[in-house]
Amino acid sequence: MMIPFSPPRIDDKIIAEVTAALKSGWITTGPRTKQFEKNITEYCGCKTTVAVNSWTMGMQVFLNYWGIKAGDEVIIPAYTYCASANVIVHAGATPVMVDLNESDFNLNVEKVRAAITPKTKAIMAVDISGFPADYDLLMNLVNEHEIKSQFSANNDSQEKLGRIIVISDSAHSFGAIMNGKRSGSLTDVSSFSFHAVKNLTTAEGGALCFNLPDNFNHDEIYTEFCIKILHGQNKDALAKTKKGNWKYDVEEPGFKCNMTDLQAAIGLVELERYQESLNRRKVIFHRYASAFSNYNWSIEPAFETDTKTSSYHLYLLRINGATESQRDEIIQEIFEYDVSVNVHFQPLPLLTAYKKRGYKMEDYPEAYSKFANEISLPVYYDLSNENADRVIAAVVASVKKVLS
Ligand SMILES: *Cc1c(COP(=O)(O)O)cnc(C)c1O
Repeated sequence: MMIPFSPPRIDDKIIAEVTAALKSGWITTGPRTKQFEKNITEYCGCKTTVAVNSWTMGMQVFLNYWGIKAGDEVIIPAYTYCASANVIVHAGATPVMVDLNESDFNLNVEKVRAAITPKTKAIMAVDISGFPADYDLLMNLVNEHEIKSQFSANNDSQEKLGRIIVISDSAHSFGAIMNGKRSGSLTDVSSFSFHAVKNLTTAEGGALCFNLPDNFNHDEIYTEFCIKILHGQNKDALAKTKKGNWKYDVEEPGFKCNMTDLQAAIGLVELERYQESLNRRKVIFHRYASAFSNYNWSIEPAFETDTKTSSYHLYLLRINGATESQRDEIIQEIFEYDVSVNVHFQPLPLLTAYKKRGYKMEDYPEAYSKFANEISLPVYYDLSNENADRVIAAVVASVKKVLS
Protein backbone atom coordinates (compact mmCIF):
# COMPACT_ATOMS: atom_id res chain seq x y z
CA MET A 1 0.00 0.00 0.00
CA MET A 2 1.22 3.48 -0.96
CA ILE A 3 2.21 5.69 1.96
CA PRO A 4 0.82 9.14 1.12
CA PHE A 5 2.69 12.37 1.88
CA SER A 6 0.26 14.24 4.14
CA PRO A 7 -3.40 13.22 4.02
CA PRO A 8 -5.81 15.25 6.18
CA ARG A 9 -7.23 13.66 9.34
CA ILE A 10 -10.89 13.39 8.38
CA ASP A 11 -12.81 11.22 10.82
CA ASP A 12 -16.32 10.93 12.30
CA LYS A 13 -15.73 13.85 14.64
CA ILE A 14 -14.97 16.23 11.77
CA ILE A 15 -17.88 14.88 9.73
CA ALA A 16 -20.27 15.29 12.68
CA GLU A 17 -19.23 18.90 13.26
CA VAL A 18 -19.51 19.85 9.58
CA THR A 19 -22.90 18.12 9.46
CA ALA A 20 -24.00 20.10 12.50
CA ALA A 21 -22.93 23.32 10.77
CA LEU A 22 -24.87 22.35 7.64
CA LYS A 23 -27.96 21.50 9.65
CA SER A 24 -27.74 24.72 11.68
CA GLY A 25 -28.93 26.63 8.62
CA TRP A 26 -25.94 28.99 8.81
CA ILE A 27 -23.16 28.07 6.40
CA THR A 28 -21.24 31.27 5.62
CA THR A 29 -19.28 33.37 8.16
CA GLY A 30 -21.14 33.13 11.45
CA PRO A 31 -20.90 31.82 15.01
CA ARG A 32 -18.46 29.01 14.24
CA THR A 33 -16.02 31.32 12.47
CA LYS A 34 -16.20 33.83 15.34
CA GLN A 35 -15.57 31.05 17.87
CA PHE A 36 -12.67 29.71 15.81
CA GLU A 37 -11.07 33.18 15.74
CA LYS A 38 -11.42 33.49 19.53
CA ASN A 39 -9.90 30.06 20.08
CA ILE A 40 -6.96 30.88 17.82
CA THR A 41 -6.31 34.17 19.64
CA GLU A 42 -6.30 32.32 22.94
CA TYR A 43 -4.12 29.49 21.68
CA CYS A 44 -1.55 31.71 19.96
CA GLY A 45 -1.49 34.43 22.60
CA CYS A 46 -1.86 37.19 20.02
CA LYS A 47 -4.06 40.31 20.33
CA THR A 48 -6.68 39.56 17.70
CA THR A 49 -7.34 37.09 14.87
CA VAL A 50 -9.23 37.34 11.60
CA ALA A 51 -10.13 34.09 9.81
CA VAL A 52 -9.96 34.17 6.01
CA ASN A 53 -10.27 31.79 3.07
CA SER A 54 -6.50 31.26 2.59
CA TRP A 55 -3.07 32.42 3.68
CA THR A 56 -2.73 34.07 0.31
CA MET A 57 -5.81 36.28 0.49
CA GLY A 58 -5.20 37.10 4.15
CA MET A 59 -1.73 38.34 3.30
CA GLN A 60 -2.90 40.11 0.15
CA VAL A 61 -5.47 42.09 2.11
CA PHE A 62 -2.97 42.77 4.86
CA LEU A 63 -0.44 44.25 2.41
CA ASN A 64 -3.23 46.45 1.05
CA TYR A 65 -4.30 47.42 4.57
CA TRP A 66 -0.72 48.34 5.48
CA GLY A 67 -0.43 50.48 2.34
CA ILE A 68 2.25 48.42 0.58
CA LYS A 69 2.33 49.64 -3.01
CA ALA A 70 4.38 50.35 -6.13
CA GLY A 71 7.84 51.62 -5.26
CA ASP A 72 7.97 49.72 -1.95
CA GLU A 73 10.29 46.81 -1.21
CA VAL A 74 9.45 43.76 0.90
CA ILE A 75 12.26 41.45 1.98
CA ILE A 76 11.62 37.70 1.79
CA PRO A 77 13.78 34.57 1.76
CA ALA A 78 14.61 33.14 -1.68
CA TYR A 79 13.57 29.75 -0.29
CA THR A 80 9.81 29.65 0.18
CA TYR A 81 6.56 28.79 -1.53
CA CYS A 82 5.68 31.13 -4.43
CA ALA A 83 2.72 32.61 -2.50
CA SER A 84 5.09 34.62 -0.25
CA ALA A 85 6.37 36.52 -3.29
CA ASN A 86 3.22 36.50 -5.44
CA VAL A 87 1.23 38.62 -2.99
CA ILE A 88 3.99 41.26 -2.99
CA VAL A 89 3.94 41.37 -6.80
CA HIS A 90 0.14 41.74 -6.77
CA ALA A 91 0.45 44.60 -4.30
CA GLY A 92 2.60 46.31 -6.94
CA ALA A 93 5.71 46.21 -4.74
CA THR A 94 9.06 44.50 -5.27
CA PRO A 95 10.05 41.28 -3.49
CA VAL A 96 13.69 41.58 -2.42
CA MET A 97 15.08 38.10 -1.86
CA VAL A 98 17.77 37.14 0.62
CA ASP A 99 19.69 33.93 1.25
CA LEU A 100 19.33 31.52 4.19
CA ASN A 101 21.19 30.65 7.36
CA GLU A 102 23.68 27.83 7.14
CA SER A 103 22.26 26.11 10.23
CA ASP A 104 18.58 26.05 9.26
CA PHE A 105 16.19 26.86 6.41
CA ASN A 106 15.29 30.36 7.62
CA LEU A 107 16.29 33.70 6.21
CA ASN A 108 19.62 35.10 7.37
CA VAL A 109 19.25 38.28 9.40
CA GLU A 110 22.61 39.75 8.36
CA LYS A 111 21.59 39.27 4.73
CA VAL A 112 18.35 41.04 5.58
CA ARG A 113 20.34 43.93 7.04
CA ALA A 114 22.36 44.23 3.84
CA ALA A 115 19.13 44.26 1.76
CA ILE A 116 17.42 47.10 3.66
CA THR A 117 17.01 50.35 1.73
CA PRO A 118 14.90 53.49 2.34
CA LYS A 119 12.21 51.76 0.23
CA THR A 120 11.94 48.75 2.59
CA LYS A 121 8.50 48.74 4.16
CA ALA A 122 8.28 45.16 5.42
CA ILE A 123 10.26 42.03 6.12
CA MET A 124 8.37 38.77 5.62
CA ALA A 125 10.14 35.92 7.38
CA VAL A 126 8.98 32.38 6.59
CA ASP A 127 8.93 29.66 9.27
CA ILE A 128 10.00 26.98 6.84
CA SER A 129 8.96 23.48 7.96
CA GLY A 130 7.45 24.96 11.14
CA PHE A 131 10.74 26.11 12.67
CA PRO A 132 10.40 29.79 13.67
CA ALA A 133 12.61 32.38 12.00
CA ASP A 134 14.91 34.57 14.13
CA TYR A 135 12.26 37.05 15.25
CA ASP A 136 14.28 38.33 18.21
CA LEU A 137 17.15 39.29 15.88
CA LEU A 138 14.74 40.74 13.30
CA MET A 139 12.99 42.86 15.94
CA ASN A 140 16.34 44.14 17.21
CA LEU A 141 17.36 44.93 13.65
CA VAL A 142 14.28 46.97 12.72
CA ASN A 143 14.54 48.86 16.01
CA GLU A 144 18.18 49.84 15.49
CA HIS A 145 18.53 53.60 15.43
CA GLU A 146 20.12 53.81 12.00
CA ILE A 147 17.63 51.42 10.40
CA LYS A 148 14.71 53.28 11.96
CA SER A 149 15.96 56.68 10.90
CA GLN A 150 16.07 55.72 7.21
CA PHE A 151 12.49 54.35 7.34
CA SER A 152 9.94 56.58 5.62
CA ALA A 153 6.24 56.09 6.37
CA ASN A 154 3.59 56.30 3.62
CA ASN A 155 0.52 56.50 5.84
CA ASP A 156 -0.77 56.78 9.41
CA SER A 157 -0.30 53.11 10.37
CA GLN A 158 3.27 53.04 9.12
CA GLU A 159 3.90 56.35 10.89
CA LYS A 160 2.49 55.00 14.12
CA LEU A 161 4.74 51.94 13.98
CA GLY A 162 7.69 54.11 12.99
CA ARG A 163 9.75 51.26 11.62
CA ILE A 164 9.79 48.39 9.14
CA ILE A 165 6.98 45.96 9.96
CA VAL A 166 8.02 42.35 10.60
CA ILE A 167 5.54 39.91 9.07
CA SER A 168 5.58 36.17 9.60
CA ASP A 169 4.63 33.73 6.89
CA SER A 170 3.50 31.19 9.48
CA ALA A 171 1.88 28.89 6.92
CA HIS A 172 3.89 26.00 8.42
CA SER A 173 4.29 27.00 12.04
CA PHE A 174 0.93 26.79 13.81
CA GLY A 175 1.79 25.63 17.33
CA ALA A 176 5.53 26.29 17.06
CA ILE A 177 7.15 27.92 20.09
CA MET A 178 9.94 30.46 20.50
CA ASN A 179 11.12 31.80 23.86
CA GLY A 180 7.98 30.37 25.48
CA LYS A 181 5.58 32.08 23.05
CA ARG A 182 3.56 30.51 20.28
CA SER A 183 3.70 31.32 16.60
CA GLY A 184 1.14 34.03 15.91
CA SER A 185 2.47 36.14 18.78
CA LEU A 186 6.16 36.22 17.81
CA THR A 187 5.98 39.34 15.66
CA ASP A 188 3.77 42.24 14.44
CA VAL A 189 1.50 40.14 12.25
CA SER A 190 1.44 36.46 11.28
CA SER A 191 -0.50 34.62 8.63
CA PHE A 192 -1.46 30.95 8.92
CA SER A 193 -2.55 28.60 6.18
CA PHE A 194 -5.19 25.95 6.82
CA HIS A 195 -4.80 24.40 3.37
CA ALA A 196 -5.47 20.64 3.19
CA VAL A 197 -1.80 19.66 3.52
CA LYS A 198 -1.00 21.92 6.47
CA ASN A 199 -0.76 20.81 10.13
CA LEU A 200 -4.18 22.21 10.94
CA THR A 201 -6.65 22.26 8.11
CA THR A 202 -10.05 23.71 7.23
CA ALA A 203 -9.82 22.25 3.67
CA GLU A 204 -8.81 25.73 2.49
CA GLY A 205 -8.45 28.61 4.88
CA GLY A 206 -6.17 30.88 6.81
CA ALA A 207 -5.96 33.32 9.67
CA LEU A 208 -4.17 36.58 10.35
CA CYS A 209 -2.95 37.07 13.89
CA PHE A 210 -2.25 40.65 14.88
CA ASN A 211 0.26 41.44 17.57
CA LEU A 212 1.22 45.05 16.90
CA PRO A 213 2.54 47.29 19.70
CA ASP A 214 0.05 48.50 22.33
CA ASN A 215 -0.47 51.91 20.69
CA PHE A 216 -2.57 50.07 18.07
CA ASN A 217 -6.22 49.39 18.91
CA HIS A 218 -6.69 45.73 18.03
CA ASP A 219 -10.49 45.81 18.37
CA GLU A 220 -10.56 48.52 15.71
CA ILE A 221 -8.18 46.54 13.52
CA TYR A 222 -10.47 43.52 13.82
CA THR A 223 -13.58 45.49 12.83
CA GLU A 224 -11.83 47.22 9.95
CA PHE A 225 -10.37 43.98 8.68
CA CYS A 226 -13.70 42.13 8.73
CA ILE A 227 -15.10 44.91 6.54
CA LYS A 228 -12.12 44.75 4.21
CA ILE A 229 -12.51 41.02 3.61
CA LEU A 230 -16.23 41.43 2.75
CA HIS A 231 -16.29 43.96 -0.09
CA GLY A 232 -15.96 46.91 2.28
CA GLN A 233 -19.51 46.24 3.46
CA ASN A 234 -20.00 47.63 6.95
CA LYS A 235 -22.41 44.84 7.99
CA ASP A 236 -21.92 41.14 7.40
CA ALA A 237 -24.67 38.66 6.52
CA LEU A 238 -25.18 37.68 10.16
CA ALA A 239 -25.61 41.28 11.33
CA LYS A 240 -28.11 41.87 8.52
CA THR A 241 -30.37 39.07 9.80
CA LYS A 242 -31.25 41.20 12.84
CA LYS A 243 -34.78 42.60 12.48
CA GLY A 244 -34.93 45.62 10.20
CA ASN A 245 -31.16 45.72 9.92
CA TRP A 246 -31.00 45.38 6.14
CA LYS A 247 -29.25 48.61 5.22
CA TYR A 248 -25.49 48.81 4.89
CA ASP A 249 -22.85 51.02 3.33
CA VAL A 250 -19.68 50.29 1.37
CA GLU A 251 -16.95 52.59 2.57
CA GLU A 252 -14.32 51.52 0.04
CA PRO A 253 -14.02 48.73 -2.54
CA GLY A 254 -12.97 45.70 -0.50
CA PHE A 255 -11.94 42.12 -1.13
CA LYS A 256 -13.92 38.90 -0.74
CA CYS A 257 -12.14 36.27 1.28
CA ASN A 258 -14.09 35.54 4.46
CA MET A 259 -14.02 32.09 6.05
CA THR A 260 -17.25 30.05 6.03
CA ASP A 261 -18.73 28.27 9.06
CA LEU A 262 -18.26 24.94 7.25
CA GLN A 263 -14.52 25.56 7.20
CA ALA A 264 -14.56 26.81 10.79
CA ALA A 265 -16.40 23.62 11.84
CA ILE A 266 -13.42 21.57 10.66
CA GLY A 267 -11.01 24.04 12.25
CA LEU A 268 -12.71 23.94 15.66
CA VAL A 269 -12.29 20.16 15.86
CA GLU A 270 -8.72 20.33 14.54
CA LEU A 271 -7.75 22.97 17.09
CA GLU A 272 -9.37 21.18 20.01
CA ARG A 273 -7.19 18.11 19.41
CA TYR A 274 -4.17 19.94 18.07
CA GLN A 275 -1.81 19.00 20.90
CA GLU A 276 -2.48 15.35 20.19
CA SER A 277 -1.62 15.96 16.57
CA LEU A 278 1.62 17.82 17.46
CA ASN A 279 2.64 15.04 19.85
CA ARG A 280 2.27 12.45 17.14
CA ARG A 281 4.26 14.54 14.65
CA LYS A 282 6.99 14.98 17.24
CA VAL A 283 7.28 11.23 17.74
CA ILE A 284 7.67 10.74 13.98
CA PHE A 285 10.32 13.49 13.76
CA HIS A 286 12.31 11.85 16.53
CA ARG A 287 11.96 8.44 14.95
CA TYR A 288 13.35 9.77 11.67
CA ALA A 289 16.13 11.73 13.38
CA SER A 290 17.37 8.82 15.44
CA ALA A 291 17.27 6.41 12.50
CA PHE A 292 19.08 8.70 10.04
CA SER A 293 21.71 9.83 12.55
CA ASN A 294 23.30 6.41 11.98
CA TYR A 295 24.26 7.38 8.41
CA ASN A 296 27.03 9.77 7.49
CA TRP A 297 25.15 10.89 4.36
CA SER A 298 22.30 12.33 6.36
CA ILE A 299 21.97 15.98 7.42
CA GLU A 300 19.18 16.34 9.98
CA PRO A 301 16.94 19.42 9.96
CA ALA A 302 16.84 21.73 12.99
CA PHE A 303 13.56 21.27 14.86
CA GLU A 304 14.28 21.70 18.56
CA THR A 305 16.78 24.12 20.11
CA ASP A 306 17.08 25.87 23.50
CA THR A 307 14.80 28.67 22.32
CA LYS A 308 12.68 27.15 19.54
CA THR A 309 10.37 24.18 19.07
CA SER A 310 9.04 23.37 15.63
CA SER A 311 5.42 22.62 14.81
CA TYR A 312 6.86 19.49 13.14
CA HIS A 313 5.27 20.36 9.82
CA LEU A 314 7.85 19.11 7.30
CA TYR A 315 10.77 16.79 7.86
CA LEU A 316 13.44 18.26 5.57
CA LEU A 317 16.06 15.55 5.26
CA ARG A 318 19.19 16.40 3.28
CA ILE A 319 21.48 13.92 1.58
CA ASN A 320 25.07 15.04 2.08
CA GLY A 321 27.05 14.80 -1.14
CA ALA A 322 24.05 14.26 -3.45
CA THR A 323 23.78 16.52 -6.49
CA GLU A 324 20.39 17.79 -7.63
CA SER A 325 20.10 15.03 -10.24
CA GLN A 326 21.16 12.32 -7.78
CA ARG A 327 18.55 13.62 -5.36
CA ASP A 328 15.95 13.35 -8.10
CA GLU A 329 17.06 9.76 -8.78
CA ILE A 330 16.83 8.92 -5.07
CA ILE A 331 13.27 10.25 -5.05
CA GLN A 332 12.38 8.04 -8.04
CA GLU A 333 13.77 5.03 -6.16
CA ILE A 334 11.86 5.89 -2.99
CA PHE A 335 8.59 5.94 -4.94
CA GLU A 336 9.40 2.38 -6.12
CA TYR A 337 8.89 1.36 -2.48
CA ASP A 338 5.39 2.95 -2.50
CA VAL A 339 6.52 5.82 -0.31
CA SER A 340 5.52 9.38 -1.25
CA VAL A 341 8.11 12.07 -0.71
CA ASN A 342 8.40 15.66 -1.84
CA VAL A 343 10.75 18.62 -2.18
CA HIS A 344 10.14 21.85 -0.24
CA PHE A 345 10.81 24.14 -2.01
CA GLN A 346 12.19 25.02 -5.39
CA PRO A 347 13.80 28.38 -4.56
CA LEU A 348 11.92 31.24 -6.23
CA PRO A 349 14.76 32.17 -8.65
CA LEU A 350 14.33 28.72 -10.26
CA LEU A 351 10.71 29.48 -11.20
CA THR A 352 10.00 31.08 -14.57
CA ALA A 353 7.89 33.88 -13.09
CA TYR A 354 10.84 35.08 -11.00
CA LYS A 355 13.62 34.21 -13.42
CA LYS A 356 11.81 36.49 -15.88
CA ARG A 357 11.88 39.24 -13.26
CA GLY A 358 15.66 39.03 -13.11
CA TYR A 359 16.29 36.95 -9.96
CA LYS A 360 19.31 34.65 -10.36
CA MET A 361 19.85 31.39 -8.52
CA GLU A 362 23.60 32.00 -8.23
CA ASP A 363 22.88 34.97 -5.95
CA TYR A 364 21.50 32.57 -3.31
CA PRO A 365 24.06 29.77 -2.93
CA GLU A 366 22.82 28.60 0.46
CA ALA A 367 19.24 28.29 -0.81
CA TYR A 368 20.42 26.32 -3.82
CA SER A 369 22.61 23.94 -1.84
CA LYS A 370 19.74 23.24 0.56
CA PHE A 371 17.27 22.65 -2.26
CA ALA A 372 19.62 20.46 -4.32
CA ASN A 373 19.88 17.63 -1.80
CA GLU A 374 16.60 18.02 0.13
CA ILE A 375 13.87 15.37 0.42
CA SER A 376 10.71 15.96 2.51
CA LEU A 377 9.41 12.84 4.23
CA PRO A 378 5.79 11.96 5.09
CA VAL A 379 4.60 13.28 8.47
CA TYR A 380 0.94 13.05 9.52
CA TYR A 381 -1.16 12.05 12.48
CA ASP A 382 -2.20 8.65 11.12
CA LEU A 383 1.31 7.59 10.05
CA SER A 384 2.05 4.50 12.15
CA ASN A 385 5.49 3.67 13.55
CA GLU A 386 5.54 0.68 11.26
CA ASN A 387 4.98 2.88 8.21
CA ALA A 388 7.50 5.45 9.42
CA ASP A 389 9.98 2.57 9.51
CA ARG A 390 9.02 1.67 5.95
CA VAL A 391 9.83 5.26 4.96
CA ILE A 392 13.20 5.03 6.67
CA ALA A 393 14.03 1.71 5.00
CA ALA A 394 13.02 3.04 1.57
CA VAL A 395 15.21 6.14 1.97
CA VAL A 396 18.21 4.16 3.22
CA ALA A 397 18.00 1.61 0.39
CA SER A 398 17.49 4.30 -2.26
CA VAL A 399 20.38 6.46 -1.11
CA LYS A 400 22.61 3.40 -1.03
CA LYS A 401 21.61 2.42 -4.55
CA VAL A 402 22.14 5.87 -6.07
CA LEU A 403 25.22 7.05 -4.17
CA SER A 404 27.33 3.89 -4.14
C1 LIG B 1 0.90 26.81 1.84
C2 LIG B 1 1.78 28.01 1.90
C3 LIG B 1 1.28 29.29 1.63
C4 LIG B 1 -0.07 29.54 1.01
O1 LIG B 1 -1.13 29.12 1.76
P1 LIG B 1 -2.62 29.11 1.12
O2 LIG B 1 -3.50 28.93 2.33
O3 LIG B 1 -2.66 27.95 0.19
O4 LIG B 1 -2.84 30.40 0.45
C5 LIG B 1 2.12 30.38 1.85
N1 LIG B 1 3.38 30.22 2.29
C6 LIG B 1 3.91 29.00 2.51
C7 LIG B 1 5.32 28.90 3.00
C8 LIG B 1 3.13 27.86 2.30
O5 LIG B 1 3.67 26.64 2.48
